[in-house]
Amino acid sequence: MTDKIDISLQKAQDECSRTGLRMTDKRCNVLKILLQASGPLSAYEIADQFKSTFAESLSAMSAYRMLDFLMQANLVHKLETSNQYLACSHISCEHKHELPQFLICDKCHTVKEIGLSKQLLKELKDSIENTGFALSSQQLELHGVCKGCQLIHAD
Ligand SMILES: [Zn+2]
Ligand SMILES: [Zn+2]
Ligand SMILES: [Zn+2]
Repeated sequence: MTDKIDISLQKAQDECSRTGLRMTDKRCNVLKILLQASGPLSAYEIADQFKSTFAESLSAMSAYRMLDFLMQANLVHKLETSNQYLACSHISCEHKHELPQFLICDKCHTVKEIGLSKQLLKELKDSIENTGFALSSQQLELHGVCKGCQLIHAD
């Protein structure tokens, strides 16, 4: 396990005890799987990896329950368009968590979490709601090609 994952797990534990959330070993292990993953995973993939990594079975139902907990704690985010989960990239950060937005690479399937300015998001929301459309989520999931893949595929 790399240091960055260790630090993030420790931070996650601290943050949970500070806010009175109960971080169990199982929840922590689900988070560990997502921190180690190279891209977003579905709940079924998480349950599979849990089984092979920790030699302990995890039903999809409990995977969903643990993911719900981790999402409430802002440690994990869900991509609504693909029903996949990923670890927050700011767990080891000191700054306040922003409304997360995601840049999804269609070549290597990595996802970058970015923060956009509140003002920009408000303008976006206002102009969408001006059309009479009621937004249920303000999460953006934008597709494209990441910097690394652009370099690989350049001539
Ligand atoms: Zn985040
Ligand atoms: Zn950060
Ligand atoms: Zn890529």
